[in-house]
Amino acid sequence: MTGKTAKRDDLRVVVMGAGMAGILSGIKLREAGFSNTVIYEKAARVGGTWRENTYPGLTCDVPSHAYTYSFEPNPDWSYMLPPGAEVQDYFERTAKKYKIDEMIRFNEEIIRCEFKNGRWHLDMKSGLHDEADIVIAATGVLHHPSLPTIPGLDKFQGTMFHSSRWDHSVPLDGRRIGVIGNGSTGVQLICALAGRAAKVQHFQRTAQWIMPVENTPFTEEQKAAFRADRALLHSVQNDATYLANVERFTNAVADATSPEIAQIEAIVLDNLEQSVADPVLREKLRPNYRAACKRLIFSPSYYSAIQHPDAELVTDGIECIEATGIRTRDGRLHALDLLVLATGFKADQFMRPMNVVGRNGVKLNDVWAKRPNAYLAVAIPEFPNFFMLNGPTGPVGNFSLIDVAEQQWGYIAQLIERLRSGASQEIAVTQSAMDTYEQARLAAAKNTIFASGCNSWYLDAEGVPASWPWSYGRFKEAMAAPQLDAFGLKA
Ligand code: NAP
Repeated sequence: MTGKTAKRDDLRVVVMGAGMAGILSGIKLREAGFSNTVIYEKAARVGGTWRENTYPGLTCDVPSHAYTYSFEPNPDWSYMLPPGAEVQDYFERTAKKYKIDEMIRFNEEIIRCEFKNGRWHLDMKSGLHDEADIVIAATGVLHHPSLPTIPGLDKFQGTMFHSSRWDHSVPLDGRRIGVIGNGSTGVQLICALAGRAAKVQHFQRTAQWIMPVENTPFTEEQKAAFRADRALLHSVQNDATYLANVERFTNAVADATSPEIAQIEAIVLDNLEQSVADPVLREKLRPNYRAACKRLIFSPSYYSAIQHPDAELVTDGIECIEATGIRTRDGRLHALDLLVLATGFKADQFMRPMNVVGRNGVKLNDVWAKRPNAYLAVAIPEFPNFFMLNGPTGPVGNFSLIDVAEQQWGYIAQLIERLRSGASQEIAVTQSAMDTYEQARLAAAKNTIFASGCNSWYLDAEGVPASWPWSYGRFKEAMAAPQLDAFGLKA
């Protein structure tokens, strides 16, 4: 062990995952001069959720120039809301440009990570072993598919897969396709399949509010101007109207009684009233809970897609799945060639099923038995030198997780700098800081629009929203600098 005050550039840093936040970590660690860093990635490519999701119609519903690393603007975004493949390409290009590929060990799944004798000991499925002084968990939120427990699911004789496991060898044109689920994924799928499939049936359990949005392309002239003028590109990336909307929206979310929420409600209600001609269909599409309670769906074309002559909204409730299709509670059998389960993700898993064990044998599975949580979404008591990006209770409003991860990185960087400088050997948030934070978070979460009476992936097992419950401004403030008295700093 080196002396307490010697600068330790060679500290071993392990990053879990090479998605958006893992690539960010690699870039920032290299920039800061950490020379002994590895990123373990269980798949063969970078990209995380953008690698896993390739379904037709996949679109980023955050404006492209905002869904971009602050330090790596992209003049070439094709659309305001770009296709998923373009986002994946952006991450691959960025990883190459910053030579992050060289840091990544692909096809290595970490199965155990245990803190023993002052270091993290990691075991991979392949049998590889590593040790680290610092671990950054950048494992993402939405990557464990949630499969429905519908009777007869295993009896279906057609083709069936989860939306994040798309099989591109399966033909779509002229087929009878059923989509279960109408979150952002199901809605985007219907927009892509209506008019292409012989018939597409959308099985809706709960109606969704739809926020209208225009998806304008960037012209070749605009892209050329962005390429030529860095300041112009920077101003687009930091568009004041968008940033003001982020601020307004997160403030609105934090207070279900706010006038901003009432404004959102008026817009989505007007969208429904104006866009759906048939009164029977309109009533089926009318949610019975408040707008933005579930994650708002931004779609330029869902209402027109579901009114396509070859599309049908099915709301009768699924009785069971049979060999040839879905039987609804009204007794009807909906014959299908392809069944897509757009049924979302288990949002409470994070780095699990990995077995993570902290100081004194404390198991992550036990700490998170009730609900996954973390101090300011980044640190867990008894898990020293272990930090998370986009960890539990991390999402801020509906907006760019890249911005959230960058700000979290700014916070974590200050802690790991203490480790590198030798000022501390072990940094772990104290239980009392965690408890105080969690108490305040739970109280605030109950006032958010997410807790106003609907079911969504934002809610934990006890129905409490698991996202940042305060304003965007408060998040920025919290991430600006760690309060060191919240941490046990072992010298
Ligand atoms: P989701 O929002 O969790 O939606 C899951 C859907 O499946 C819901 O409509 C749910 O119905 C339905 N469902 C689940 N089990 C069911 C069952 N047994 N029977 C019938 N219906 C069932 O999942 P998602 O659409 O994949 O989206 C998840 C998140 O991914 C989004 O909120 C967003 O954060 C992210 N995403 C982002 C983009 C983007 O453009 N940035 C695109 C896609 C996804 P209930 O509502 O009744 O529970």
